[in-house]
Amino acid sequence: MPSMTIDGLCVEATDTYDVINPATTDVFAQAPQATEDQLDAAVAAAQRAFLTWRETDVAVRREVMVACAVRMRAHADELIDWLVREQGKPFVVAQGEVMGSARWMEFTAGLPLPGEVVEVDGVKVGEVRRKPYGVVGAIVPWNYPLISAVWKIAPALLTGNTVVLKPSPFTPLATLRLGELLLDLLPPGVLNIISATDDLAPAMTAHSGIRKLTFTGSTATGKKVFAAAAEHIKGVTLELGGNDPAIVLADVDVADTAQKIFAAAFANSGQVCSAIKRVYVHADIHDALVVELASLAGKAVIGSGLDETVTVGPLSTQAQFDKVLDLMNDAAEQGGVFAAGAPEAVDRPGYFIAPAIITGLPDTARLVTEEQFGPALPILSFTHIDEVVSRANDTPYGLSASVWSIDIEAAVSVASRIDAGTVWVNQHMKPRPQLPTAGVKASGVGAENGAWGLESFLQIQTIAVA
Ligand code: NAD
Repeated sequence: MPSMTIDGLCVEATDTYDVINPATTDVFAQAPQATEDQLDAAVAAAQRAFLTWRETDVAVRREVMVACAVRMRAHADELIDWLVREQGKPFVVAQGEVMGSARWMEFTAGLPLPGEVVEVDGVKVGEVRRKPYGVVGAIVPWNYPLISAVWKIAPALLTGNTVVLKPSPFTPLATLRLGELLLDLLPPGVLNIISATDDLAPAMTAHSGIRKLTFTGSTATGKKVFAAAAEHIKGVTLELGGNDPAIVLADVDVADTAQKIFAAAFANSGQVCSAIKRVYVHADIHDALVVELASLAGKAVIGSGLDETVTVGPLSTQAQFDKVLDLMNDAAEQGGVFAAGAPEAVDRPGYFIAPAIITGLPDTARLVTEEQFGPALPILSFTHIDEVVSRANDTPYGLSASVWSIDIEAAVSVASRIDAGTVWVNQHMKPRPQLPTAGVKASGVGAENGAWGLESFLQIQTIAVA
């Protein structure tokens, strides 16, 4: 089993906890349960390492990061295997996650670091520099464990911060293995990875040695992280939940749009923060789109992600499985019509639910108002743009959204009226390392990725000479 990484060493724990394969519900591994003393040791190691890492030439930091990306690719097979077993995603999705993690690490390594000279009337009055925070505490969820971690590790390392990272207790193994793989590439203490059940997380967010918290997870937990950060006035980046709307105008190619919407709603069994979670389609093409989506749902190959032909894996946790079934049952009670799927589990071991397309729901149904984070997609009809913009914005969330039309100008005009950090046009869930990911409203604080993401790991220092 992979160990924790603390101060450049592989570290075991006295206690362990069970890790479940969601495709079978069998316990297939034991993960180390870090103690508070081990958390303290990781933070102390990161504090010591910070003193030299922040002074290390940025060219050297870049080289180390590129070497980390090369190492990830060289060990892709085992990282993919851990991901599929602990999280349940189909093989190709895990492959995309590992290769994407390496790509993100490499791309971030090449980003320029910000810094400006400020002039007034042509005379220099000061320089605005950026300084790293120190120790960054990074906490990530179970849906994309590895890439969520790399989105934090890469910018932290480039900017001269050091890291203590805690993966989700449900999916610790690929991330712990990553720590082991990078051990000889990074100076001791620069990247520490500890695993534990949720009990240890508050000790981490409250730790006085951590100067910056970067968190990806649910809005409910994000609020706790935000509150905990207040005690020591820590920097905070929060990437939280979403309830992404897709708005489909009447002029689209229905079959083509259905394929893209299906992919962006059911990837990873819908367990993606920026998956499409509700579709508003113009009344003229509502029925045609539902037929296409239902047909795609019927073609899904459901099973263990280790089988490379599988396109839809299990839900990742018992709690998520129960929640999605509860929302689907509620949808049925609210008069929802299942054009594909049913409010029930697939009759096999594991947390499997077949992709469901549901029509006829009121806007107040819980499947529409809550983040389902699962393979059940409500399709709602609209007739006027003003009406659909208002319905799409009627949510506490503001992560991302999409607008679909062959009239790009019309689509961009609708997009600009949506209260979301990202609005895609004729695509959805297409993050790029060059572009920021930033939720608004209850979906987050601050940004990840690109130049904007780097700023999240830096504090401003103004030097002004008389
Ligand atoms: P979660 O909030 O339950 O857990 C996330 C992490 O928080 C885990 O590592 C967990 O151990 C830790 N945690 C638990 N209690 C804590 C506490 N008191 N203080 C600090 N950390 C604590 O989320 P999840 O169920 O793992 O993930 C699903 C959620 O994450 C969904 O809402 C999804 O939308 C969101 N998400 C958002 C993004 C994004 O970029 N916006 C990306 C992926 C997932």
